[in-house]
This record gives sequence, structure tokens and C-alpha cells, in this order.
Amino acid sequence: MPYSLIAKCPCCDKTVNNDLNKIKRLFGLRTMKNGNEIPQSYCKVCRSKKCSPTDKRC
Ligand SMILES: [Zn+2]
Repeated sequence: MPYSLIAKCPCCDKTVNNDLNKIKRLFGLRTMKNGNEIPQSYCKVCRSKKCSPTDKRC
């Protein structure tokens, strides 16, 4: 495994573990320069709200 397949949103604490389809749906993926795809650090909901751990908007 090039990376561990876990996504945890620091804002709302939503966590998805080893479920790529769910990660795609709830977090989305981003492609690194080396071609690896990693989960977005924030879930889609929090990104759209520009939420951060110190500024929770959920
Ligand atoms: Zn979130």
C-alpha cells in the first residue's frame, strides 16, 4: 500500500476507513505529483463551508 486508506476530516471528525468508494463520495481524492491519489484532508461538506478545526462551521 503506498498510503493508508483512511480519511478523517479535522473539522467534523467524519472518518472513513478502507472504503475507497465512500472516501470518493464524502471526501474526494486529489492526485499528487507522483501520481498517487490521496483522500482530501477535509470532507466535501467542510471544504464547501471553508471549515477549519479552529473555525467550525458545520
Ligand atoms: Zn468535515
